[in-house]
Amino acid sequence: MARLSQQQTSSGHTVMVVDDDGELRGTVARLLRSCGHTVLTAADGEEALQLVAAHDVHLMLLDYFMVGMTGEDVVRELRLRGHELQVVLQTGYASERPPRDMLRDLDIQGYHDKSEGPDKLLVWVDAALKAHRHVRAIMASRDGLNHILQAAPQLHRLQSLDDLLRGILLQLQGILGFSGACVAVLPGSSTGSGLVAVPGAQVFEVRVATGRFEGRAWPDLDTAERNAIIGAAHSGRPARTPLTALPLQAGERNVGVVLVELDPQAAADADLTLLEVFAAQAAVAIQNVQLFELATTDDLTGLMNRRAWTGRLEETLQLGARHGHPTSVMLIDVDHFKSVNDTYGHLAGDALLRALGATLRDHVRATDLAGRYGGEELAVLLPHTEPAGARILAERLRERIAALALDWNGQHVQVTASVGLATDLGGAHSVPTSAALLARADSALYAAKAAGRNRVLEAAGPALSLAGAEG
Ligand code: GH3
Ligand code: MG
Ligand code: MG
Repeated sequence: MARLSQQQTSSGHTVMVVDDDGELRGTVARLLRSCGHTVLTAADGEEALQLVAAHDVHLMLLDYFMVGMTGEDVVRELRLRGHELQVVLQTGYASERPPRDMLRDLDIQGYHDKSEGPDKLLVWVDAALKAHRHVRAIMASRDGLNHILQAAPQLHRLQSLDDLLRGILLQLQGILGFSGACVAVLPGSSTGSGLVAVPGAQVFEVRVATGRFEGRAWPDLDTAERNAIIGAAHSGRPARTPLTALPLQAGERNVGVVLVELDPQAAADADLTLLEVFAAQAAVAIQNVQLFELATTDDLTGLMNRRAWTGRLEETLQLGARHGHPTSVMLIDVDHFKSVNDTYGHLAGDALLRALGATLRDHVRATDLAGRYGGEELAVLLPHTEPAGARILAERLRERIAALALDWNGQHVQVTASVGLATDLGGAHSVPTSAALLARADSALYAAKAAGRNRVLEAAGPALSLAGAEG
């Protein structure tokens, strides 16, 4: 009765019954239709293969013993042609048990003894269709991942590269079923100044780690893992130990290695291919980021350089004009910096600038952007920030700088800085050019110097105002 009521609703599945016994074919087909499945039937292997080529078949119930092509012959041919459909064999006699090795090698769900009756057959059908849905879901994830991989080299503009690579590795881990992976980058190739990788390097930097590699740095890897990475990096070829190590090759340049807890002997070709696509795309993404960093980072301070910082200011102002957000800028000039150079030497001046760079990086908000504007002049871009907020941040930075004490050959080098602030309110009244806003910040800075240094002054509108000034 229950079965009758299901007759009308379609299961969405297509099942093929292949049997040279016409009566049995008919009986099984009726049973499956009553469960809502679409049913195709074939009287022999050749007909079955033709039908599979023309229809999206999810499951084949296949007679094991047939004259001409046997059930085993049919599955062999299906797998050769790359068909992923599920197969359940039907056997007629106890002596006909298909060997387990054959079931495993040909990816056959199992076999149903025809004498066991329809209920047992339907249990097999349900299990096989469930497996079919899982395989389809995994294939869809693969397709999705392939799309992400194709875009990966550009995505670092939206997301940090490490986060991006980690996200992709976690997805690969889920789909391919390995227990962990890591991306090791050649030393010197991850900083702005170190585009040239060290060719004979024996020490790598683990940038991304998932699964059982999580939280492990280079010294935490065992000898076999390190050797696999070094081997792949130096040969430029995959190292196929019990682990898979693929070199990350961007053109001629090797930027690192991805190490995966996957035995290449046991892995499917399609899985290795997917990892190779990952390696190729990750290499390009890493190279892109390195080139981008090289072009946008100031070597001495590690802050963004003037051109890149001004570019970001320009973009922020345009967004502010469109969406009505205020944008503030802070220009910071070290007081009497010449005397630091004169008293302690130019190298001490450089060290102090490096320390100032670190102070800025550590104490601005994640959404703010510090840059080196000129010689000893630094700048901070404060998106979405009103004058009141900018004043608080500027004052805090001024205090941090004054509190900074560089130890130079046993001597304490201390400086103060003057800060000029300007805000563009955004929206309809804004004049969003970086040059205009910076000119206002610069005159505020000049006024702060004139008023005695070590203070924050603010430009209000095109005309300079002393409102909010210190001291
Ligand atoms: P103030 O700003 O308070 O008026 O005085 P100042 O001594 O800082 O004046 P000024 O801006 O004219 O001088 C800046 C000095 O910074 C001059 C220059 O030699 C030094 N400088 C600029 N870039 C660097 C650098 O990269 N390293 C070192 N060591 N010194 C630098
Ligand atoms: Mg200066
Ligand atoms: Mg100065």
